[in-house]
Amino acid sequence: MKITIDTSMCSGHARCAAAAPEVFRLDDDGYALPYEGELPESLHEEARSGERTCPERAIRIE
Ligand code: SF4
Repeated sequence: MKITIDTSMCSGHARCAAAAPEVFRLDDDGYALPYEGELPESLHEEARSGERTCPERAIRIE
């Protein structure tokens, strides 16, 4: 599983990081940073939860 953030759509709500703190980090301005590398299976469900909370649909999970 790989996560990308469409930075042109991210509005810095930080909901992803609140819902999935082990997956999504924020930069100094509150915008989401992509998880680096392959996401471990133990975090897949948390990642999906973070994806669902994003009102801008800026998170892509492949
Ligand atoms: S919830 Fe969506 S819009 Fe908000 S910081 Fe996360 S990716 Fe960006």
